Amino acid sequence: MNVADSDRLSRALGSLDFQATDDPAEAGLIILNTCVVRQSAEDRALGRLNSLKPLKHANPDLIIGLMGCLVGIKGNQAMEKRYPWVDIFAGPSDPEPFLRFLGDRLTHSDSEVWRRQADEVLDAEFGITTEAQHTVSENLPIVLGCSHNCTYCVIPNRRGRERSRESHKILAEARVMVEHGAKELVLLGQIVDRYGLDLPGEMRLPQLLREISEIGGLERIRFLTSHPNWMTDELIDAVAELPKVMPHIEVPVQAGDDEVLRAMRRGYTNQQYRDLVSRIRDRVPGASIGTDIIVGFSGETEAAFEQTYRLLEDLKIDVAHLARYSPRPNTYSAKLLPDNVSAEEKMRRFRALEDLQKVVVGKINEQFLGQIQPVLFESRAKNKWRGRTPTNRLVFVENEQDLVGELRDVRITWTGPWSLQGELLG
Ligand code: SF4
Repeated sequence: MNVADSDRLSRALGSLDFQATDDPAEAGLIILNTCVVRQSAEDRALGRLNSLKPLKHANPDLIIGLMGCLVGIKGNQAMEKRYPWVDIFAGPSDPEPFLRFLGDRLTHSDSEVWRRQADEVLDAEFGITTEAQHTVSENLPIVLGCSHNCTYCVIPNRRGRERSRESHKILAEARVMVEHGAKELVLLGQIVDRYGLDLPGEMRLPQLLREISEIGGLERIRFLTSHPNWMTDELIDAVAELPKVMPHIEVPVQAGDDEVLRAMRRGYTNQQYRDLVSRIRDRVPGASIGTDIIVGFSGETEAAFEQTYRLLEDLKIDVAHLARYSPRPNTYSAKLLPDNVSAEEKMRRFRALEDLQKVVVGKINEQFLGQIQPVLFESRAKNKWRGRTPTNRLVFVENEQDLVGELRDVRITWTGPWSLQGELLG
């Protein structure tokens, strides 16, 4: 979601004649987008913020903006006091303070024109009118915020309650993205499978997938992240039926032990998650499944951790995003539950799952050896073209041709746990 917010803001600024630079010392405007989902992310964001202070001293005209979850939707007066070298603060997915500030600040003869352009970008719902070239795979937020209360999670506090965007605006933006180069759209939401439930009369995610599928020139659609409780059969069937919707579902379990799941207030059990994975695999054969796991949550005993381990071992999940629990400010678990698994133990459990996944995913990927896979190429990395299979596996190919944006058949010649290599056919 932060990548999507940053991209949209960059495109809006680009359409207002700002030019990007990789050198902070050369910049007239620096906006830092921040994540606080874990303590390590917050520490990194604060480190970067502090590193900007000397630049501001050297160049008082430099405009520094801070956006994202470090600021939060309610603003953050304490931060404004603590970081006086920051000129603008804005919450997540909210570019308006930047555009308004810049419009007011610019005093050159074009400022009226500039302000009008900024208004147009905002009126059209941020980003829609920009003519900038889009990347092959574009993130498209469709649900902002979250109204669930998972006890460890800081997101509802920072990104606000759940707000689905109106489908006509999503479709308009999707068409612009495809017209300007996007071949794949990744629909984003904290609970993306709840799309439309907060908007009376609005379509739900399966219908939205159908409508987006109609866009000519668009090759692929993905959506993330789903919550197990909102993953309906209708949605799974839409994945099975719509050729442009890729067979890849991100549906976090977070833990395998029912007590821990209850303490996290996730709203399902180990067995219910297992049943969901079976339903997905029955209806979408060959689908890949991604999950998120937090190890070392409050009260996670060794036996409880083993439930998580066994769940991963049994289900053979394609991707597991692992994290060690860290209490986040003002969450239920930070205030009321003890952080009673030691840092060493959290690391041990993290490593145990990492090792398990390496073996599990390595074996799953071996099945692709010699197979032909349709790969959508996104970029070049280390002299190789980098693309993805329908099930979201990374594939690297060496070739003289420019493959970015191409959907090509590739024979898989090497497999490892985290990527595949192959050769182009035809
Ligand atoms: S559903 Fe996801 S975003 Fe919402 S509170 Fe739970 S973990 Fe946080």
